[in-house]
Amino acid sequence: MTAAPRPTAPRRIVFLGPPGAGKGTQAAAVAREFGLLHLSTGDLLRAAVAEGTPLGREADGHIRAGRLVPDDLVLEILGHRLRQPDAAGGFILDGFPRNLAQARALERTTPLDLVVSFEVDRQRLVERLAGRWICPKCASVYNLASRPPRRPGLCDLDGAALLQRPDDRPEAVEVRLKVYTEQTAPLLEHYRATGLLHPLDASGDPAAVTEGLRRLLAGDQLGTGMRDRQRP
Ligand code: AMP
Repeated sequence: MTAAPRPTAPRRIVFLGPPGAGKGTQAAAVAREFGLLHLSTGDLLRAAVAEGTPLGREADGHIRAGRLVPDDLVLEILGHRLRQPDAAGGFILDGFPRNLAQARALERTTPLDLVVSFEVDRQRLVERLAGRWICPKCASVYNLASRPPRRPGLCDLDGAALLQRPDDRPEAVEVRLKVYTEQTAPLLEHYRATGLLHPLDASGDPAAVTEGLRRLLAGDQLGTGMRDRQRP
């Protein structure tokens, strides 16, 4: 059930953090509860690749190699989705922005209420990505070490055969972590300077991380600056 949001609760939210930090898993866990749309640019791009659209064909090689997809393509696909009516009540952006140019483009599109910085050490990220398996049907995420499926290789919810993402292979993981450090991590300073950034310790048990996130999204722990900014 979706509870009525408090007036101080953030509605336009970015989840920022390295690949493997659990942004997608956590967004899926809380979005519905808070009445927010979960928008993952990675998912939007993978869907375009699967459909074989011109944009998907252009994005495919970049994704496989672990590189960023060119900004114009990502902005096109995200802009289209953000203009749909179901985004009007609020959203969680998962995996966007990934560099300063994207952050600036987002600022021209919509104000933000909160940027959650998912903090996890590098060794744990590599372990998580290497063990990650995904259901192609319902997008549930499993991890062989921390959240194995009940039946090996099969989704608990719909029984579909689980897949490993091509960019979770070790070579692509190295590139993705490097891209994060060089292009995305500078956004932390950018959002810290605006007062929107809130760190979240995302290294622990996923259920504990979800609890911390719930408190943030309920607006309980946000500073008065943010509350003031949200008043109409
Ligand atoms: P993710 O599912 O967020 O880990 O994204 C998977 C891949 O999709 C990334 O490694 C990039 O190749 C591409 N991608 C996702 N979001 C973006 C973005 N905001 N900008 C550029 N490329 C992206």
